[in-house]
Amino acid sequence: MTTTTSTDALDRATGALLGVHAGDSLGATTEFASPNPDPDTWVRDIVGGGAFNWAPGDPTDDTDLTAAVVRAYTDLIADGTDQTLDAVLDACARHFLSWYRSGPKDIGGTTSGSLARLRRTNDPRGSGNAAPDAQANGSLMRCIPTAVYRKDDPDRLAEETLAISAITHASTVATQSCLLYNRVVAALINGTDVRTAITDAAAELDGTEVGRVATSRLDASVDDPMPWRRGGWVLTALDIALWAALQVDRTTEDLLVDIINQGGDADTNGAIAGGLLGARDGVSGLPDRWVATLRLADEFRQAATAFVAG
Ligand SMILES: [Mg+2]
Repeated sequence: MTTTTSTDALDRATGALLGVHAGDSLGATTEFASPNPDPDTWVRDIVGGGAFNWAPGDPTDDTDLTAAVVRAYTDLIADGTDQTLDAVLDACARHFLSWYRSGPKDIGGTTSGSLARLRRTNDPRGSGNAAPDAQANGSLMRCIPTAVYRKDDPDRLAEETLAISAITHASTVATQSCLLYNRVVAALINGTDVRTAITDAAAELDGTEVGRVATSRLDASVDDPMPWRRGGWVLTALDIALWAALQVDRTTEDLLVDIINQGGDADTNGAIAGGLLGARDGVSGLPDRWVATLRLADEFRQAATAFVAG
């Protein structure tokens, strides 16, 4: 039996949210770059720049949309609103559209199409792209607040994780990727070890493509190189995050630096892996010099405290 103190759980809950932000802001510099084979010249600090000329510590779409889900739950807590699934979805939709209307300079294709539809219909249950081959990573990168807030309520965690993904990314592969990820994050925050957390989540999704990705990763050597199949694909991003989390002898910093210097969808791969690693090692596992740059650090810390308190 695992024992854990509430201080540890708060550290890991905070780490989950700030891990997304750190991986995103670190990877913003190398988004769309080619893999860098020379570790001596790797990006190791949050310095901004990149394809969209970010300031150091800026949130990109990954963090902004994570913040949108954070704010949805924060609103519901503040209002004391009856937290039905409809209320959760409406709050998420409101914050997604607020971001969309702000004219973000980096927005994924599936997210853009679905939020355009949401703006027209105002129906978060019908806005998402449900095509089976719509398997982009844009909902996985922002699903983690549900794992933090619903870590002790497995049914609500599943229901809300699937439905919030489907506001933009409604394919089975996309929604189930979010579910597997959030199951692992919740278990890690609650003190379960990584291998057990992934094994349990994979068992729930046994027989699915997402379950097979997790099972294959559990069966692979932890010394395998970073998996890289298709940039922007949700199963690649999920596999990279699982690959990183299972390397328990490597630090969060070392793993995120490795991931983002492979370029490609670096910010999103960093965000998704960063969330798992933050849940594994806590915010205390993130370098102070990184956290000091993160624009939404205070908001995410306060949200984690409120979410863990319930
Ligand atoms: Mg991004």
